[in-house]
Amino acid sequence: MRVIEEKENFEIIAVFGGVYNNALALEAVIRDAKERGAEALYCLGDLGGFGPHPNSVWRPLLENDVRCIAGNYDISIREDRPDCGCGYSDERDNLYAQIAYDYTRENTSDEFKEWMNTFPDHILLKLGEKTVRMVHGSPLAVNEFLWESTPDEALKARLEASGTDLLLCTHTGLHWEREIDGRRLVNVGAIGRPANDGRTEVWYAILRESEGGVETEFVPVAYDHETLARQMREENLPEPFVETILTGWWTSCLEILPPYERSKGRFHLYREAAQIEVGESVSWGDAASLPDDGRDVVSIFGTPLFPAHLWVYTNYDCNYACGYCSVGSNPRVERRSIEVGRFERLVEDAKELGFRQLYLTGGETFLLPELGELLEISVPNIPTTVLTNATLFKGKRREVLERFAREPNFSLQVSVDGGIPELHDAHRGPGSWKRAMEGIGMARSLGVRVRIGTTETPENRAGVPVLREMLQDLGIAPEDHVVRPLIKRGESESGMEIEGSMLVPELTVCAEGVAWHPAGVNDAGITDLLVSREIFPLRRSVEYAVEHFLEYRQLDGSLPRAYHCA
Ligand code: SF4
Repeated sequence: MRVIEEKENFEIIAVFGGVYNNALALEAVIRDAKERGAEALYCLGDLGGFGPHPNSVWRPLLENDVRCIAGNYDISIREDRPDCGCGYSDERDNLYAQIAYDYTRENTSDEFKEWMNTFPDHILLKLGEKTVRMVHGSPLAVNEFLWESTPDEALKARLEASGTDLLLCTHTGLHWEREIDGRRLVNVGAIGRPANDGRTEVWYAILRESEGGVETEFVPVAYDHETLARQMREENLPEPFVETILTGWWTSCLEILPPYERSKGRFHLYREAAQIEVGESVSWGDAASLPDDGRDVVSIFGTPLFPAHLWVYTNYDCNYACGYCSVGSNPRVERRSIEVGRFERLVEDAKELGFRQLYLTGGETFLLPELGELLEISVPNIPTTVLTNATLFKGKRREVLERFAREPNFSLQVSVDGGIPELHDAHRGPGSWKRAMEGIGMARSLGVRVRIGTTETPENRAGVPVLREMLQDLGIAPEDHVVRPLIKRGESESGMEIEGSMLVPELTVCAEGVAWHPAGVNDAGITDLLVSREIFPLRRSVEYAVEHFLEYRQLDGSLPRAYHCA
């Protein structure tokens, strides 16, 4: 291993990595660093890959005395190896990496390759009082990925191996820093492509001596990315690479990203890795298959893998006390309603994030005096389905129905467990089937779209076909009838046992925070399926669900299953 120790002691330096043939960004970063007073410029390797015209980065590096260390790419190119040695394990990641590598290898001059032979593996220097080691991947391996989500224990071992106060690296293409036991690790990111953050700028780091310590500043730099995109197209580089340059979102090399980092990006899986059996009982508003927009990659949010449904528990109390209520609702349960102000903000967030369906559930939603106010907020903005037992449509509650009856964005979902009273009343009480059917008839006479939800139990299973026929006779379309199995939650002592790792997420907001799925909420609040105690920003919960969905998937390579309540 070749290590260079700098003789000079600097006060301010600029450090960047991952040039990836992007000469336009390189020149912009050098200009910016000089304007900020950097006394020395360092590149932590990977000059090639991804972009066009590999030789074009050589001149700016030479003319500006940029001190480079060897990345895995540079080692592969100068030694004429068959691949870049990035360390990807997924074949789809490797496919794109190989295209970029073959292009770079073919178009890098022998003189430039020769120059790469002068690169050390590490550089040591002093910044004020602090010692600094610069590496490409980590002190242990040139192609090791050090992510923000890498556990502290692993990072601590790398910091100890470094033996310096600061350890600077790149290789992942994402910038971040962390202090552990008085030592700091700074991943300076990459300037060859954006940081999967929806911005077209690229990032580098300025490090300044400050009162005996060192300050890090991550700097975004804009450059002529449209010209770069044009050059890439002229060179026939893959269109997904061009899209990344133009949008700031990564569309290739996804599988190498750990779940935390991947959840921050727009795309989460290669399309072929995202196939899932959706089954018959797709929820209202779902697409039955992944949308095909021509890309190789998909965002899982808004697909059957993570439907764009938001559930809201408006209240927990109910006029009924069904023996199998998974929420445990009854007339004595504390109401704990969602406040109107919070609901308003929630609808704003949901709309901005692209949620396409809102479900209001409880408890019995029509017990809530402010239900009409909530619907005034949601119905103009997002399709809203209210779950109800349909037994309270009188007086002011009937007025609520009348107000929204003909709004295309408004519908009801009523629980009906059988085509004959006995099957329904067994769990819900005598006379409840008759009252539900009267409520359904009344709502439909007002013009309300009524959907039916059936909880399937061993007792009513055989009666489901009869129920389907009865609903058809009533004019309720088959797609407006969902049958879901009984789950063992709340008051129910039997039924399907479910846990987060087997469930497709359907984010659910209640007075106590955000849950993974409506089945994760009962009269005691959020149970084992907690996502966050903080409702806002809702975006964080979406990212959390993506992250954990990917974690669950990676345990055995399979994807979670759907349990739809609507
Ligand atoms: S199942 Fe529905 S109607 Fe029955 S107690 Fe629970 S919330 Fe109320």
